[in-house]
Amino acid sequence: MADNNSNRQNKQNNGFRITSILYILLFIGFGYILFKDDGTELNGTATYTEFKEYMEKGYVSDLVIYSNMNTMDMYIKPDSAKYVFGDRAIAQPLAKPMLTVGVGSLDNLQEFIDQAEENGAFTGKVEYRKRSHTFTDILISVFPFVLIIVFWILITRRMNGGAGGSGVFSVGKSKARVYEKGQSDRVTFKDVAGQAEAKTEVEEIVEFLKNPKKYTELGGKIPKGALLVGPPGTGKTLLAKAVAGEADVPFFSLSGSDFVEMFVGVGASRVRDLFRQAKEKSPCIIFIDEIDAVGRARGKNPAMGGNDERENTLNQLLTEMDGFGTNSGVIILAATNRVDILDKALLRAGRFDRQIHLDLPDLNERKAVFSVHLRNIKLSKDVDVDLLARQTPGFSGADIANVCNEAALIAARHNKKKVEKDDFLSAVDRIVGGLEKKTKVLTADEKRTIALHEAGHATLSWFLEYANPLIKVTIVPRGRALGAAWYLPEERQITTKEQMLDEMCATLGGRAAEELFTGHISTGAMNDLERVTKQAYGMIAYAGMSDKLANLCYYSSTDEYAFQKPYSDQTAQLIDQEVKAMIAQQYERGKKILLEHEEGHHQLAQLLIEREVIMAEDVEKIFGKRPWASRSEEILEEESKDDNAPVVENKDKVEP
Ligand code: ADP
Ligand code: ZN
Repeated sequence: MADNNSNRQNKQNNGFRITSILYILLFIGFGYILFKDDGTELNGTATYTEFKEYMEKGYVSDLVIYSNMNTMDMYIKPDSAKYVFGDRAIAQPLAKPMLTVGVGSLDNLQEFIDQAEENGAFTGKVEYRKRSHTFTDILISVFPFVLIIVFWILITRRMNGGAGGSGVFSVGKSKARVYEKGQSDRVTFKDVAGQAEAKTEVEEIVEFLKNPKKYTELGGKIPKGALLVGPPGTGKTLLAKAVAGEADVPFFSLSGSDFVEMFVGVGASRVRDLFRQAKEKSPCIIFIDEIDAVGRARGKNPAMGGNDERENTLNQLLTEMDGFGTNSGVIILAATNRVDILDKALLRAGRFDRQIHLDLPDLNERKAVFSVHLRNIKLSKDVDVDLLARQTPGFSGADIANVCNEAALIAARHNKKKVEKDDFLSAVDRIVGGLEKKTKVLTADEKRTIALHEAGHATLSWFLEYANPLIKVTIVPRGRALGAAWYLPEERQITTKEQMLDEMCATLGGRAAEELFTGHISTGAMNDLERVTKQAYGMIAYAGMSDKLANLCYYSSTDEYAFQKPYSDQTAQLIDQEVKAMIAQQYERGKKILLEHEEGHHQLAQLLIEREVIMAEDVEKIFGKRPWASRSEEILEEESKDDNAPVVENKDKVEP
């Protein structure tokens, strides 16, 4: 990092020097033009007519004709100089007066000289010479162009935001920063705290880079790219750097927006340049941050315009990725927060076909991140990593790094020898203030509400026979979801009414727990309610699952866009009533179960507040074995055999 900085400074110094030299040149240029005819010598130019006049009057002493340049030097007799140069001649009586004359036709000139010699007006010598362009001549003829170029360079440097060494001549070059291999301060997995799953996934990439033969010899193809997906500051760049560091290969880093410039065709040419550079240094890693800047889905409708330049860049990127051989040793890692808006073509096999997810750190991970960043800080004894991690729910890795830095700055401001707990707490406060607008940072109260809510889901799904078995519950905010619970769904083709009702009841558990134990209800349950309502309508109007509308299905698989409802207004009312009744009934059932297990529910919520993530084992410790354990155990056993078993995630979103 420090290295990088000094590098940049160097560049800036260079830039400064170049700029000042350019300015000096400009200055000299103008000076030269202004003072070229400074009159210290009796030199000047004359027209051909004047030449003839002076010849006839007998002022001219000698002539030197430069036949190859169609000019001549006309030397004036010293005693005639006053007629030609006026006062200047009187001021400089010793100068050798000379005028340069342009000559149209050498033949005519010779004729005129002969005539003048005949009638005695001219008695001097005539000399023919060849002259090569003198330095001054060249300077004079080239100078205007030099001036224009100098101006142009200065202006484009301005346009490019001052120094940085990227003038007009390098717009098409990629702006990638390169981290060479073998640097002493390289990033390794040690520097990336938490993110265990992501790390295991990229470990394979490190293997590919270190030891490609092992894979290619068996006929395998090395992947070309992987996408790091996660919110800002979760360490995507860091992880990519660590991959390069672990494999000890060069690392090209640039941002997607670097490709996009106002000049047409620049993006594509930068992509080409980047890949050319990378191939020279292979094996290596290219890291493209914010790939959505170029990789956004291409416009479906060309008539709507769209950003052609960006599309060209994207096309070039795709072409390059397809173009280089699978085993060329260049692996592209790209980071984004939004996979959903990426062009599908980017995600196709052979391109970024792997996705590695990074999430905001939970309590333990935050502890680890703190530990990484506290390594270089002089800590006073009262600093407790555990407490710091607890104080920072919803913080990303970058936020935590920021806290540590800020704390050190605050301590320094107070002339402390060591960084104390208070400094960290003020740093946290400061950063929370800054973050509140950007991301979700939970207050203690909110955290409690969310914990109660999620614990409600967890408790109900534990005690309802047909609810999906629980795997993990968290209250770490991620994206728009405040908390989430993961369940293992059963594979089933048909679902019974009991199963659906149990599911509905578990989904309502969040809201029920809020109502029972906090005394108010919140928007935290909106997502739950939406799902429950849809499900209830489906059960009643489509699946014929209510008593009053038994065995009636108002769904038409043939005409989807029917204008009229296939039932009467009375039936519509009846459906509404039945839906309300069904949901109310499940809600009451949920509340009843929660009250029965109030103790356990509270323990669960408390555990969630403390640890933020709890697993099925923790729930089991509180409630004992699940009453319907045999079934869920079977599934869990199967799950351990098959890592790719589907998992439903039940997120609680706040806003719609
Ligand atoms: P992203 O690319 O995801 O926006 P970065 O990789 O640029 O995030 O992270 C910014 C900084 O935050 C890193 O340089 C590092 O100091 C810190 N950071 C983020 N995540 C972690 C982590 N898991 N472990 C240690 N430091 C982290
Ligand atoms: Zn919920």
